[in-house]
Amino acid sequence: MIVMKFGGTSVEDATAIRRLTSIVRSQHHRQPVVAVSAMGKTTNGLLECARLAASGDLTAAREKLETIAAHHFKTADQLALAEDKDSLRQALGNRFDEIRATLEQIKQAGEVTPRLSDAMSANGELLSSPVVAAALRADGMKGVWVDVRPLMRTNDDFTRAVVQFELANPKLKEGFTAALTDGGVPVTQGFIGSTAEGVTTTIGRGGSDYSASIIGAALDADEIQIWTDVDGILTTDPRIVSEAAKVKTISFAEASELAYFGAKVLHPSTLLPAMAKEIPVCVRNSRRPQNEGTAIVRTAPPSSALVKAIAFKRGISVINIASDRMLMAYGFLARLFDVFARHETPVDMVATSEVSVSVTLDDTRNLDPVLADLQAFGEVSVERDQALICLVGEKLKFTPGVASRIFSSIEQVNVSMISHGASAINVSFIVADRDVEQAVKSLHREFFSQLDMATFEAPAVAQASA
Ligand code: ASP
Ligand code: MG
Repeated sequence: MIVMKFGGTSVEDATAIRRLTSIVRSQHHRQPVVAVSAMGKTTNGLLECARLAASGDLTAAREKLETIAAHHFKTADQLALAEDKDSLRQALGNRFDEIRATLEQIKQAGEVTPRLSDAMSANGELLSSPVVAAALRADGMKGVWVDVRPLMRTNDDFTRAVVQFELANPKLKEGFTAALTDGGVPVTQGFIGSTAEGVTTTIGRGGSDYSASIIGAALDADEIQIWTDVDGILTTDPRIVSEAAKVKTISFAEASELAYFGAKVLHPSTLLPAMAKEIPVCVRNSRRPQNEGTAIVRTAPPSSALVKAIAFKRGISVINIASDRMLMAYGFLARLFDVFARHETPVDMVATSEVSVSVTLDDTRNLDPVLADLQAFGEVSVERDQALICLVGEKLKFTPGVASRIFSSIEQVNVSMISHGASAINVSFIVADRDVEQAVKSLHREFFSQLDMATFEAPAVAQASA
């Protein structure tokens, strides 16, 4: 069997969902399990309703919700078979009643607690999935709606719940195997799960890709397909470099580095479950299904390309801690990193000298308490508005002189904190955010002017944004 995950733009309206059903039909013989995101911008819309309710403006929250409801009912009517229409309308209606009740609760609470946030945001997928199941039935397939929540067991860390694999895996396997019998095409939700008590949780924004991979691994799928609105993994962001090309095949290791270091196309955790079971992950464009997309596999075929892609993350902060106490001391770094752990702040890049440590942070929500605690270690300074640029390629590991090629191509830009990643397949460094576009353009020119056509595919049409 295979898992086919469709993102928000691939289910945004009736036209998109009709494209989806024909894509699923073309792979019907492979026993697909379909996992969907919320339609278009629904998740943001629902969270906006929650904020309005928390601010006390229930009327505005309800009005906003009505536009979301109208779009779902209209799409359902455009797609469902006559005999399906009433029950689908009923199902959507019940869900909107529940959402209205949640808005009341949020108004009462006067704040969107993480638990209430999940109670709202999980509805996007709970609304899109029955519509997609009905659309598959209208297209002659046996669409079966599956509520993933009792299967995808998580802890209760609301808004970023952690999947409890030992509990979830057997449930997922059992639930979807049952739904697949007699030619059923299960249609389920990405992004959501539930606690042991049955309280709805979400696994983090953009988490539907990760859900698809978890389901695929639990069911030992032959392939996990991520259907989105770009042709696959590109050499860089096409909004900055319009000639960005598609990478045909890439290794798990390379793609993980890219996802982690800012390529938007995949949620960073997506590849972990697939990698553990060596299940290929394919990224494909639902608007151009004839394009084969990017295959992410254990070992990519040999390529002459030194660099496979350039990713970047903007809005990074760099923290420098200077201390002569570090000299010859043991346990210093352990205590220092404990500060970040205590404040649940992930660190991306680290550089140390004998008397200083620099780290980069993407998530600065707890920056103030982190800085306060770091004062105990030495002199602390922060540079904001930085960007991290990361070049990825298996060949970077073995090629001498590559660093000089990278840095001479961006001579005009001031570079700090260089790291030839522990995995040796990435080279990353920090530049000022205002320099990032120029640097990425120059690097792209340096490494992708001459494309190895066995590895890359030049863009056929202007790419939509990821
Ligand atoms: N709908 C969720 C979000 O917008 C999950 C996803 O689309 O992956 O974050
Ligand atoms: Mg996404």
